[in-house]
Amino acid sequence: MEIYEEISEILLSNQSVPMLLWSGEKGWRTVCEGGLAIDEDSLSKDGLWALREIVMEEDLKLYDAFLQKIKEYIDGEDAAAPERENYLEEAVHLKIGETYSYYKIECYQEMENAHIMRKMLVRIPELEAEDIYRIHLAEVITNDKNPAFFTQGAKELMDRHPDWNYALVQFDVAKFKMINEQYGEQFGDELIEFFIHSLKLLCNKEQLYTRLTADVFMILTPFMSQEGLLEFVEYLRDHLSSYKDITYRLVFGICKVADRKQNLRKYGDGAALARQSIKEDALNHVAFYREDMKDKARMNKFIEDNMEKALENREFVMYLQPKYSISKEEMVGAEALVRWLHPEHGLIPPMSFVPLFEKNGFIVKMDAFIWEEACRTIRKWMDDGMAPIPISVNVSRKHLKDGSFVDTLNRLTEQYGIPKQYLEIEITESVESKDVKEGANLLKKSGFTLLMDDFGSGYSSLNTLKDTQFDVIKIDREFLQDFIGSDRGKTIVEHTVKMTREIGLDLVAEGIETKEQAMFLSECGCDVAQGFYYARPMSVDDFNKKYAL
Ligand code: C2E
Ligand code: MG
Ligand code: MG
Repeated sequence: MEIYEEISEILLSNQSVPMLLWSGEKGWRTVCEGGLAIDEDSLSKDGLWALREIVMEEDLKLYDAFLQKIKEYIDGEDAAAPERENYLEEAVHLKIGETYSYYKIECYQEMENAHIMRKMLVRIPELEAEDIYRIHLAEVITNDKNPAFFTQGAKELMDRHPDWNYALVQFDVAKFKMINEQYGEQFGDELIEFFIHSLKLLCNKEQLYTRLTADVFMILTPFMSQEGLLEFVEYLRDHLSSYKDITYRLVFGICKVADRKQNLRKYGDGAALARQSIKEDALNHVAFYREDMKDKARMNKFIEDNMEKALENREFVMYLQPKYSISKEEMVGAEALVRWLHPEHGLIPPMSFVPLFEKNGFIVKMDAFIWEEACRTIRKWMDDGMAPIPISVNVSRKHLKDGSFVDTLNRLTEQYGIPKQYLEIEITESVESKDVKEGANLLKKSGFTLLMDDFGSGYSSLNTLKDTQFDVIKIDREFLQDFIGSDRGKTIVEHTVKMTREIGLDLVAEGIETKEQAMFLSECGCDVAQGFYYARPMSVDDFNKKYAL
């Protein structure tokens, strides 16, 4: 007996499904028809039962999870994508005899109204090879386990259109870990499911997608122009950036496949680098791969491989940059700035490694080392009978998450017997204000002087100022140089200085490179300056010689 006749009998006997269409190779066929309206409850039970029986008859074994899906769908719990209302498409892995095959199940309900179903269509066509790739890839947990799969699928896809341009687009959820923490792991899992199901609908037959790791997805797509790629990213963003009323930030990296003969993995790595390059950059959500990103990645790897050893070998060195009183033309303090003196690579500037250490946590160790160097230096000045000047040290945002850095600072000043006024603390203003508040509180309680670093470089300067516990504001170099260039900007600087003084704070101007700049600031009411005009950061030896401390 043909399978649809079988269905017909079962369905007619219990009359539970008004209409079922079955399709195999031959296309759609009406199996049975009836004018019976029926509520969803009974349909879900009987309809499913009917389906199961048919499947058994043909020695097809549907996975339980798959059946569950259909049930959810029929129960209306699993709303299909909005533009395809009442539609469910699910890939299934069916065992026929001893071999597994891929099928797709498509259910479509036509509703009379919210409760009455007019008809239900079910179709189980065998999947074409390319569909299998798309679906299977989305369901494998990591592509690393099966990298050949994507590569192979991609190759076949690209081979079909030798003249087309292709690109790899990767995306992930920024701070996915935090989302898991905030909304629970189940939400995180659901979110991944949501991506997988949405990508199924959002990607067309010329595109191939896969889940790489936890929340990282990759899509191979043809493209005509750069704008076209950006439009595709916006299209994905529109559909994927929120789930269950929760919005999160998606970050996209794009790498064009320049040479198909090359290993595709290379372009995947490129897309990953592009994606990672904007992780910390709240203003951008998409980046194209550039060659210099690879150099940076190589450099980062080198740094991470060598940082522990460098600390042991004392390759990190504290430099000091003097702070000057503009009116008195004398040194009133210094800032401790780290340098990495690598035996082969020479001097590595902090901007090449400090941001990385902030990400990987090593900054906690490195900073503590610099703080200790500062304490040791002050102690030495005191022991040598010199009048010490305060050294300010940088405290990275990473420390502010818990109070243990204050213990470290307290322990160091105690150990070296240093009055607190000689060790000043710089915290950059761009850190989240709640953390700053708590950290600043603890530091103040311990008796340290607090400097707000890089004032003017972020968005929240004025806000942070409102209820600040800072003692000194350090005006950011770029902010100053930007503003000092125009009359309007000068007025803003003038008033910023005035306002800061009026609320009782001291000021240091950073990055003073010319006499004019120093004079202008002095006239505004800011007397302390740090910058190349006075002195560059230098080793402690040079510092001692130059200032005969
Ligand atoms: P920062 O704390 O704002 O330090 C001031 C930076 O401005 C220093 O860069 C200094 O060399 C530079 N500078 C000073 N005067 C001038 C000038 O007149 N012109 C120009 N063009 N630049 C000037 P540096 O030493 O490269 O440090 C960069 C940043 O790295 C620092 O900015 C700070 O955020 C971070 N950093 C440096 N040392 C440490 C450290 O020991 N711990 C932590 N957590 N961060 C550090
Ligand atoms: Mg600083
Ligand atoms: Mg600064």
